[in-house]
Amino acid sequence: MVNKVLVHWLEETVQEISKRNLTEITLSTGKTPSGHVHIGILREIIISDALRRIFEKKGVDVSFYLFMDDFDAAKRFPYYIDENYQKSNLGKPFALIPCPYEDCGCESYAYHFGNELISTFKQFGIKNEIIWSYNLYQKREMQEKIKIALDNTDKIKEILKKYILPTLDNDRKKQFNEMQKTWIPVMATCEKCNKIQNRAKDGSIHPNRAIEYLKKEQMVIYECPACGYRGRTSIYSGRLKLNWRIDWPAKWALFKATCEPAGKDHSVKGGAYDTGLEICQRIYDYEGPIKLPYEWLRLGDQDMGTSKGIVFTPEEYLKLADPEIYRMLILRTNPMKHISLRIEEIPQYHDYYEKMENIFYGIEEPDSKEDYDLYEYLYPLTKISYIPENKPIRIPLKLLTFLSQMQNILSLDKLYEKAMSSLRVNKTEKSVSIEDFKVLLKRTEKWIKEIKNKITKITDPKIKRSIQNKIDIFAIPEIIPKDLINTLSDKQLEGLKLFKNFLLENENLDSDSIQNEIFTIAKEELDIPPKKMFEAFYLILLGKKSGPRLGPFISMLDKDWLIKRLDQLEDKK
Ligand SMILES: [Zn+2]
Ligand SMILES: [Zn+2]
Repeated sequence: MVNKVLVHWLEETVQEISKRNLTEITLSTGKTPSGHVHIGILREIIISDALRRIFEKKGVDVSFYLFMDDFDAAKRFPYYIDENYQKSNLGKPFALIPCPYEDCGCESYAYHFGNELISTFKQFGIKNEIIWSYNLYQKREMQEKIKIALDNTDKIKEILKKYILPTLDNDRKKQFNEMQKTWIPVMATCEKCNKIQNRAKDGSIHPNRAIEYLKKEQMVIYECPACGYRGRTSIYSGRLKLNWRIDWPAKWALFKATCEPAGKDHSVKGGAYDTGLEICQRIYDYEGPIKLPYEWLRLGDQDMGTSKGIVFTPEEYLKLADPEIYRMLILRTNPMKHISLRIEEIPQYHDYYEKMENIFYGIEEPDSKEDYDLYEYLYPLTKISYIPENKPIRIPLKLLTFLSQMQNILSLDKLYEKAMSSLRVNKTEKSVSIEDFKVLLKRTEKWIKEIKNKITKITDPKIKRSIQNKIDIFAIPEIIPKDLINTLSDKQLEGLKLFKNFLLENENLDSDSIQNEIFTIAKEELDIPPKKMFEAFYLILLGKKSGPRLGPFISMLDKDWLIKRLDQLEDKK
């Protein structure tokens, strides 16, 4: 066999899964709903969703789960959670903590934040099934996994020791060995205070680990480190949870997970994934999933984190940008490379998408056969619902950026007309409805607002300008400020007047003829540098000396509006 270059990095995993020769596969992902979940989690979910699509196309039955780990304890809360509320709920499983917002009506803290994430899946084209871990632990089949772990405590300890010990320094080695003497792989939710762990005054975390396993009675004894209560509870009470290094392989075994992506912290050699695999094989008698490690998704140059407060949620993303663009960004990037999501680069993402789409539909020639194969593979995986037969009609982001900043001077109908005429869509195939157009305008408006926000925080003027220029950010003042008119020279005013006449005399002007006319006026009629004339236009339109390329900009404006604008010069003089 010749070692063929793979069309896409996903194929490596596809081939590994295919080697197992299964007629049904299970894809698994997981998240603890400890607060607003940032968009980084969609990296593993979208990768898995792409695998789902690939295998479904091959006729394989695919189950795709997201485990919402709401049986995990609240170790800490994000800053936006009320402090008193934090104090009373610290150490409880997220499933047993009420929603932090009054009158919200959801069942728990976990549901509040978990559902916020889940509610965006449809818009991202993700089709998965949610399994709430707390509910899962109420079921007999999961409780049987607890029993197996308890019966095999010594073997589990030996596996953990093998992986963890080499990563520790001498002091911690000693601590680890000491802890292992009494260690049992199960934690209990205290019947008195509902806590499953305690954070001591010095900040150290103490899980409510079982201290004794009564095999014959099928019970464990615990002594709650939070309230001191000593209790005994059955394996089948629903109050017990496996230690997380065992919880993971137990779920893999129960659901026969075929593949699970995992962030780099868990994927390192000897990390939780590797111990999990060995536990899965030796304790639960299942080979375990194929490991698919991935790097973090960062927001610009910052790492995101629920507890760090740097959070950009999928919901927020959808308010600003296109979900297909996000799928593209995830799926075009090798999972071992980190992604920096930059909202100011959304136009570049769009350019890439457009190119891919054009090549997919045969509108643009690919540079090579490899390029064609790549885009043909990638494009369908980025779509939200279906793959249209013809290239979908799309209003370019550049145009939307323009139009959304003209909302204060042009009516929605006028803006829509501008958009449609520049798309050269004839009336019978209006594929972008005015309603959809309105949504796009709003989204673009929000996006520009975000960028403006970001720009105010940038201190380097060079970076500032480069973003401003790339995105054509401008604002059109309602009227021309009087003091600006006074700064215009007589020649500039004369030039503007000549341009007004030009407008009155000519119908349907395009950007080139506008641009040419301004040059002609400056050089031939007035004998001044064209730059002076351009400045005059920017001043009366935008209130500053520069702006987007003038020809296209003016061609976008409404003619009647522009004539009125120029009339203002004469009124005030
Ligand atoms: Zn709620
Ligand atoms: Zn307690």
